[in-house]
Amino acid sequence: MNAGVVDLRSDTITRPTPAMREAMARAEVGDDVFGDDPTVNALQERIAALLGKEAALFVPTGTQSNLVGMMTHCGRGDEYIVGQMAHTYRWEGGGAAVLGSVQPQPLEHQPDGTLALADIEAAIKPDDAHFARSRLLCLENTLGGKVLPQSYLADATGLARRRGLATHLDGARLFNAAVKQGIAAREIAAHFDSVSVCFSKGLGAPVGSALVGSKAFIHGAHRWRKMLGGGMRQSGVLAAAVLHALDHHVERLADDHALAQRLAAGLADVPGVTVEPPQTNIVFVDVQGPKAAGLLDHLKARGVLATGLYRLRFVTHLDVDAAGVDRAIAAVREHMSP
Ligand SMILES: *Cc1c(COP(=O)(O)O)cnc(C)c1O
Repeated sequence: MNAGVVDLRSDTITRPTPAMREAMARAEVGDDVFGDDPTVNALQERIAALLGKEAALFVPTGTQSNLVGMMTHCGRGDEYIVGQMAHTYRWEGGGAAVLGSVQPQPLEHQPDGTLALADIEAAIKPDDAHFARSRLLCLENTLGGKVLPQSYLADATGLARRRGLATHLDGARLFNAAVKQGIAAREIAAHFDSVSVCFSKGLGAPVGSALVGSKAFIHGAHRWRKMLGGGMRQSGVLAAAVLHALDHHVERLADDHALAQRLAAGLADVPGVTVEPPQTNIVFVDVQGPKAAGLLDHLKARGVLATGLYRLRFVTHLDVDAAGVDRAIAAVREHMSP
């Protein structure tokens, strides 16, 4: 963290810890395009096992991981069913459509972040020359910090499977969902054919995501990764950071969740501020009144960074502590108080 700055813009801003940098420096490496990097191979085996799948692929970003996943499941003229606010629809530049020739079918979310089963059912198109082929259901967990209930995942993926659709989970923050529920990440992954997970968010690695699935699926994904420019070379230096994160930074996600609770509690009675009770590490805050527009600038002047305009977003992570959260609370209170 920059000295004196409380950066709550995102859990992607974390810097590698000294111990993580040491692990990176020690990493044995090779050319991963030849399959020669022992550290990447070790990571791929480990994350596949952790998520209960046969195989895994290490990729540079979550965006590429999702795109490779969608392009492996879907071909030209296929479509994926997805939430309006899902990263794979809204925040990835339309990559599936632009680069994959795969059409999105976005659906409105329910207040808990789920897609209504009836809406999914109604969106699956009949086999008719007028329509794109409905091919994939794509869910996200956590979504805006909300955990999708396990029973819902069973119902939604069960419906997809009955109707012949494949299932993909954008699990950028899968470990947040697992830690929050006190279950193994593989219990969430078990519902899906493929899962993407990010290491550069709450887990604190500098770079990297993984796509997991069956051997045949990952075999297909490997070709798309190369085509999309994701074939890295001595990427074991990055994989080493991820292995370190899996050893040391998973259980501590509970600390981030506790800090989000602390922030929400501290803001609860500030005038003009409405806090959505956080489930994991993301706090959404609605701000009303004449002071709303100036709040972010005021926070910045006080060394507190957040994002958003009227709906502010604060994200807790490895590089924030209770004192930083308390500073953020105090700065909001100072600005909003009459
Ligand atoms: C961050 C994120 C991604 C991928 O982001 P990259 O910046 O490409 O690594 C995908 N899905 C969700 C839900 C995310 O939050």
